[in-house]
Amino acid sequence: MELKFCYYCRVDHLRHRMCLFMTRQGPRWRCQESIAGTRVSQAERDAFGQRQSAINQQMKSPLSPYLSRLRHAQPL
Ligand SMILES: [Zn+2]
Repeated sequence: MELKFCYYCRVDHLRHRMCLFMTRQGPRWRCQESIAGTRVSQAERDAFGQRQSAINQQMKSPLSPYLSRLRHAQPL
């Protein structure tokens, strides 16, 4: 059973679960789980960025003062 040191988790994993990953410091072994986890959080970040730019677009719209008044006008 061959083990490789995962630079991401900082523990040894089985070789067949590892991928050689290029970093600024050179090639490093990283487990597939950590790579998949990074991809998910990257997708979440992208979704967040898209939501933020949609909100920003809304704020630039000439209707926005009217919409924000509507949102703040809560029934008593
Ligand atoms: Zn790992």
